[in-house]
Amino acid sequence: MDADLLILLAVLLPPAALDSLGRLVEERTVPTPYGAVGPLALRRPEHGPGVWLQPYTGVSTRTDPRATIYAALSLGARQVLNWDQGIAINPVLQRGHVAVVTDYVDFTRQPTTFGGGLPGSFGRMLPASVPWEEGSHRPPLCPRLSAALRRAIPFAVDTVYLGVDGPRRETPAEARLYRQWGIDVVGQNLIPEAALAQEAGLCYAGLVTVGDVGADRPLPAAHGEVRAALGAVLAALPTVVAEAMAPGDCGCADQRAPL
Ligand SMILES: [Zn+2]
Repeated sequence: MDADLLILLAVLLPPAALDSLGRLVEERTVPTPYGAVGPLALRRPEHGPGVWLQPYTGVSTRTDPRATIYAALSLGARQVLNWDQGIAINPVLQRGHVAVVTDYVDFTRQPTTFGGGLPGSFGRMLPASVPWEEGSHRPPLCPRLSAALRRAIPFAVDTVYLGVDGPRRETPAEARLYRQWGIDVVGQNLIPEAALAQEAGLCYAGLVTVGDVGADRPLPAAHGEVRAALGAVLAALPTVVAEAMAPGDCGCADQRAPL
């Protein structure tokens, strides 16, 4: 196995920012039934686990979320972390805050299921409903990988995320509506990948850097706080990778398609 963790980078970073995750050892484009994904970069430090990285922003047409999750399966990655930049809807949140996603609302028009089966080499049909421990609901994101994020980034706060389609921003009326729904942050890259990953038996967690405040709030003057927050998360990424490999039980893999 090349690397167990795929990080989707929906934030803009300077080119040298990821050197802390190790040397670039491979670039690969993965064909999928939903379009090609890549080039994905494999970085490997001198000691410790490697990690796959995929830029997840800056394209005019969004990557089909099914292609992304299918590519993760093809690479043999069992864990996917999505690092998005979001808009603060909760008035407590400001630019530069960092959040771990604990729950979400899917307001996108993207495909949210593989339709009961994974095509191609993952041909086994998935069950129509994913069984979970008796007497409890299945958590919307992987609790083990989310806990790893909290250990590695202790300054991150827990948030409820609203996934929307871009590229347009929310209107002030929408921002007020989202807050009434109990939303903390809104973004365009994290959802519905979470549902697709769950269907495919992958661990999936979401991290958000707050880059702006909702359209119903006055825009405060920028003081470099977003850049500072991106830097703080970057500095913690090697710890995130290490913590993601820590043993733990989450049950996400119970419905994994056989590789
Ligand atoms: Zn999991």
